[in-house]
Order: sequence, then C-alpha cells, then structure tokens
Amino acid sequence: MTNRQLFLSHVAQTSTAPLMLEIERAEGMYMYDAAGKKYMDLIAGISVSNLGHAHPAVVEAVKEQAEKYMHLMVYGEFVESPQVKFAKQITNLLPASLNNVYFTNSGAEATEGAMKLAKRITGRTQFVSFQNSYHGSTQGALSLMGDEYFKQKFRPLLPDMLQLPYNNSSELDKINSRTAAVFVEPIQAESGITVPDIAFIQQLRARCTETGTLLVFDEAQTGFGRTGKIFAFEHYDVVPDILQLAKALGGGMPLGAFVASKEKMATLSDNPVLGHITTFGGHPVCCAAGLAALQVLLNEKLWMQVDAKRRLFKKLLVHPSIQSVHSIGLMMSLEFSSYEQNKRIIDRCIAHGLLTDWFLFAPHCLRIAPPLIISEEEIKTACDIILRSIDETGS
Ligand code: PMP
Repeated sequence: MTNRQLFLSHVAQTSTAPLMLEIERAEGMYMYDAAGKKYMDLIAGISVSNLGHAHPAVVEAVKEQAEKYMHLMVYGEFVESPQVKFAKQITNLLPASLNNVYFTNSGAEATEGAMKLAKRITGRTQFVSFQNSYHGSTQGALSLMGDEYFKQKFRPLLPDMLQLPYNNSSELDKINSRTAAVFVEPIQAESGITVPDIAFIQQLRARCTETGTLLVFDEAQTGFGRTGKIFAFEHYDVVPDILQLAKALGGGMPLGAFVASKEKMATLSDNPVLGHITTFGGHPVCCAAGLAALQVLLNEKLWMQVDAKRRLFKKLLVHPSIQSVHSIGLMMSLEFSSYEQNKRIIDRCIAHGLLTDWFLFAPHCLRIAPPLIISEEEIKTACDIILRSIDETGS
C-alpha cells in the first residue's frame, strides 16, 4: 500500500477532500513532494511558518534543546530556561499590564485557559464573541465560535454564550455586568479577512472597561508580524486584558499562550490550586524554537516589509473575476463568485506549484498568507500563477 492509501485508511480524516500532498522536505518558501515537484507556500501552514520552513536558527535551537532535555515535568513546576527566556522576551514586547505568560500546546487550549481565567477573575459566567469568529475546536472554544453549522451537532455546548455582529457597534450594549469576557480577533481571519474599523475596537474596549468585562484578543493568526505590526492590537491604540497567541508563536513547533497581568494570572494557582494544568504546555523544545523564531523576526524587522508586500500583491492581482480583495499586511483574501469557482482556481494553482486554500467561513475566498520572507520576485510569480489559473478555469 502507498502512503497515500495508508493515510486514508489509518489516519483520521477531517474532510472528504484532503489536499493529499505528500511533502518530503520544506525549506524557506518552498515544499518539495515525493516526485520532486516544488510548491511555493502561499499559506504558511495557516499563518504558522512566518519565517518560512526550516529556518536554520530555529532548527539549530530545536536540536540544541533536544540534546539538553525534552520533557522533564508537568507545566509550572520546574524552572525551564527556554520557557523563562521566551516569556521574558514576549513580555518585553508588550505593555506592562501583559507581563505574565501561560504556555499551552495549541490555540484552542489558550482559549480554554483564557475562558477559565476570565471566570475566576470576574466570578461571572457569560461570554461574548462575534459572528464568523474562530477560537478553536475544543468544546469551550467551539461554544465561542460564530457559526452555527460547525456547532450544531456538538450541542449541548457551554450555556450563556452570545455572538454579536463583528465591526458593528450598535449591539455592544449587550455586553453588561454579567459578561465575564469578550473574545475577539483583532482582524477576523476565517470570515475571509475582515479588518474592523478602529472605532469599533476602541468602543469595544470602552464598553468592556465600563462593565468590568475582560477583553480578550485572540492573535493566533495575527501575531508576530503578519499584519504589519508585531501584534495586531497595536493598530488600534488599545490594550486587551488577556492576549492569546498560537500558530507562529512556536516557530513551527506546537505552542500556544495566553498572557495577562501577574495579579490576574495568580487566580489560577489559588483555590483551587492547579486551577489550570497541562503536561506538555510550554514544552522546552517548542519554547526554544519560538524564542529563536522571535529573535529572527526582531533582528530582521520582518513586520516592517509586510505592507509593501501587500501593496505589490494588490497591484498585481487585478482580474474581472476577482470580486474584491480584503487585506491587511500578509493576510489577504480574494473573493470569487462561488466556492466551486474558487476550488477550481485553487486546484489549478496547486497543479502549477502554488499552494493556497480557502477560508472556513468564506469558502468562495482564496487565502493568501505566505511566510513573511516572500520576495518581490516570488510575489510576482505567485500572482502570475493565480491570474493564469483564473483564466484556465474559464472564469
Ligand atoms: N484562534 C484563532 C483565531 C485561530 O485562527 C485558530 C486556528 N485556526 C485557533 C484559535 C485555534 O488554534 P489551534 O488550531 O492551534 O487549536
């Protein structure tokens, strides 16, 4: 049996149409399959590989840490230097009120931890999130999700959840003194990239402050330079009470985090003690990889080049079939008239060696979220392939 057949029979499937690429190695902007075909990566594993694949500094950090030690003890007991150094480096980049990091294994676990933290701090039970939001697939995170189709078969989920329209201030008064926290993506990704008005985010911040509600920014996709700032909250001149990080955080290794003040975070270690625990959260190899990746991002100031790259994409991607382009930094979506049309274009792109995808709540939109290191030449090549693919599908 081939690996592809074994994949279908023994590896649990999440869709009826997996991409089925069998990659042998990946480096920088490119992946190479078993037959030696080269693919340019236009989605970075969904906003993970911000430095491209197998960055030498990250690979070196992984090797070095794996040789020193891997798992020693459950989270929160031992002083593990990769964790300590990484937490220090992350908090150095954040406002003083975000000075304490809880490391998890994933974005969904960061959401779960932040939900529990909000309950402990406020003593409240209601959560507010937004239509078309995504915060993870576990049951607490799923309860926040702003899309009924993905929730319906998994009910009952958490009670006392409310989803409001995104980028619409008219219903913010529904956040009240019963609301523990509001979870929001500072740029909504899976809706096909929705960049909210600065006023909306500022009014949301004000309403949370007024009602004693915690404001949680989920920066799983927007963090670490993708939007043209190191963190997307910097676009709005507001500071969240809790910041969630994942995806690019681990430099390609599995890692998530929620960040708050030391005082707020202290509620998780008291009555009950061990209020949130994890065996592998903050794994030393993942933290070493994340720290190395963050140092490269900072040394090379990669976020500063992101907006010029976005403008080049926008300039080149002009075609009558592209109905609209939504973008901030290297988070971009091209809107087509239907999922079927989009899927045909994506398939042509992949045939031409360009890996792209659609969005969970916007299947008619094509995703552009490449490693931040993409060059001008590579942007031109990618755009040529997309335009050619549109023409080839007769769109
Ligand atoms: N929050 C956001 C905004 C995300 O985009 C995602 C993943 N797509 C998650 C949370 C969940 O992260 P993970 O898949 O690591 O659980």
